Amino acid sequence: MNNHMRLEFDAISQNELFARNVVALFALPLEPSLSELSDIKTAVSEAVTNCIVHAYGGRGGVIELKCSIEDKFLHIKILDRGKGIADVEEAVKPFYTTLADEERSGMGFTIMQTFMSDFKVESALGRGTCISMRKAIGSVDKENA
Ligand code: ATP
Ligand code: MG
Repeated sequence: MNNHMRLEFDAISQNELFARNVVALFALPLEPSLSELSDIKTAVSEAVTNCIVHAYGGRGGVIELKCSIEDKFLHIKILDRGKGIADVEEAVKPFYTTLADEERSGMGFTIMQTFMSDFKVESALGRGTCISMRKAIGSVDKENA
C-alpha cells in the first residue's frame, strides 16, 4: 500500500530523535528488518543533524521532512532553508568537514550514501539544501535469511 507524509519541525537537537523515530514508524508497514530500520534511522539522524549544525549554524530554523512508500521503496526528503553548500561534490567526500574544530568527522554524507540505496544532494548557496534518499526494503538479505 502506497503512502506519504510531510512534516515541519524546528531545527533543534531534540528533534533529531523525533525525526528518526517518526520515519522508522512510517516505514513499519514495509516490515523492515532491524538492520534496515537502523540504517534508515542513522541516515535520517545524519541529515537532520546537518540541518541543525551546518544549515542553520545552531541558531534554529525550519526543517521539512517528506516521506513516501511506493511498492517496496521508502523515499525520504529532508530540506532546510539555511546557508546552502558551495561545492556539493566536495562536501560529500569522506572526511570533508567545515567544522573540524567542533570535532565533526566529515562522515555524515558517506554514512547516508552507504546505508541507503540512493542518495542525492541538491543545494543552492543562501537558499538551502535538499537531501533525497531511497531505500528498498525487504530485499535480498531477508529473502536469503
Ligand atoms: P559528521 O557528519 O561526521 O559529524 P560533517 O557534518 O561535517 O561531520 P557531513 O555530514 O559529511 O560531515 O557533511 C559534510 C559538509 O557538508 C559539512 O561539514 C558542511 O560543510 C556541509 N553540509 C552538510 N549538510 C549541510 C546542510 N544541510 N547545509 C549546509 N551545509 C551542509
Ligand atoms: Mg554531518
